[in-house]
Amino acid sequence: MKVEDVKTSAQAIELEDKHGAHNYHPLPAVLKKGDGVFVWDVEDKKYYDFLSAYSAVNQGHCHPRIVDAMTKQANTITLTSRAFHNNVLGVFEKYATDYFNFDKLLPMNTGAEAVETAIKICRKWAYEKKGIKEQDAQIIVFENNFHGRTTTIISFSNDEGARKNFGPYTPGFIKIPYDDADALEKVLKEHDNIAGALIEPIQGEAGVYTPSDDFIPKVKELCQQHDVLFMADEIQTGIARTGALLAVCGKCDCQGHCERQDATYSRPDILILGKALSGGAYPVSAVLADDAVMNVIQPGQHGSTFGGNPVAAAVAMEALEVVRDEKLAQNARELGDLFRSELNKFIETTDIVKLVRGRGLLNAIVINDTEDSSTAWDICMALKENGLLAKPTHGNIIRFAPPLVITKDQIMDCVSIIIKTLKDFE
Ligand SMILES: *Cc1c(COP(=O)(O)O)cnc(C)c1O
Repeated sequence: MKVEDVKTSAQAIELEDKHGAHNYHPLPAVLKKGDGVFVWDVEDKKYYDFLSAYSAVNQGHCHPRIVDAMTKQANTITLTSRAFHNNVLGVFEKYATDYFNFDKLLPMNTGAEAVETAIKICRKWAYEKKGIKEQDAQIIVFENNFHGRTTTIISFSNDEGARKNFGPYTPGFIKIPYDDADALEKVLKEHDNIAGALIEPIQGEAGVYTPSDDFIPKVKELCQQHDVLFMADEIQTGIARTGALLAVCGKCDCQGHCERQDATYSRPDILILGKALSGGAYPVSAVLADDAVMNVIQPGQHGSTFGGNPVAAAVAMEALEVVRDEKLAQNARELGDLFRSELNKFIETTDIVKLVRGRGLLNAIVINDTEDSSTAWDICMALKENGLLAKPTHGNIIRFAPPLVITKDQIMDCVSIIIKTLKDFE
């Protein structure tokens, strides 16, 4: 059977159902093409993409510059392994460390691998630099976190579906409430074996849960006071999504151009990136840190066959360059403000939506129904009929995260699709 033989969405769904593991529950949209903010299904129906592959496609689908960089490199050399050097990796490392203002970068492929890398660096730093007794280091994590799907990462999740029957769990993590600086201060005072705190500046998967403005700066301050590494998982929030280069930039307006010593910038000790680092063209993730932290990793202590391959390096460089050239952070901030204010006007007039929240173009609405109701799913099915793809996250919450190349006219068009659809559920 060939891909050309798949003529209908139903046929494609049946194939996946029969031959693929059932580890996802997708909306029944079978996509075959993407361009900018749009995707097309097998029946040639056109949609606005309001998920952007969980914020991997910030630069828009099939961005020509990123695709060009990828094909050019793919036609030259694709993989060398780290047993040898390649002529692209160092250029990318220099580019990205300048871009984000860190001494060093460690390249991986998926987000979960980058989180694992950060955890390993943090533990090693704790034993070798902070002097914590071996096997004793603890990392602080936050309730309702999402950091990926490995056995260690799901060990500190509190999503039953992600955790149940995958034990025994990896020890060494202390979980505290999110957006609660007092809880953090308490743990830091009570324990002297804390190596780091791993945090999402906005909890995307939890439903775009946006903490109070002073929470992240407070986390940073407390970590510094207690000689604990502040690790920011910006896999979903980073790279312009929330209207700044990073969500930890807060209200800093630098677009990645300033020295970022701005008072509102909560500079992480370890920065974790993935998703939009490649604009969705290729799996690329990375961990960035300064020498005092990164240098604890020596030859043979960590690695990945594909990590730092020349295609990944070429793609990531171009993806970051596009973010800067097209001023995507600025666009996300302006159109995000517009999107929330338009939806808020509607929310004042209706009972179907409780609220809209988020920052930049990472937003969510909370549907006025119980968490186990199917209303959010039904609304997403209706949005699909009306030409806009979004997916519920956690029951009654719908995330809205279009590619950041979206225009003002397109955002207004989408606002009217969303409101029209919601009105049918009033
Ligand atoms: C998506 C995501 C991950 C995991 O990335 P994968 O590439 O799916 O492994 C980790 N942390 C956050 C915040 C994410 O959004």
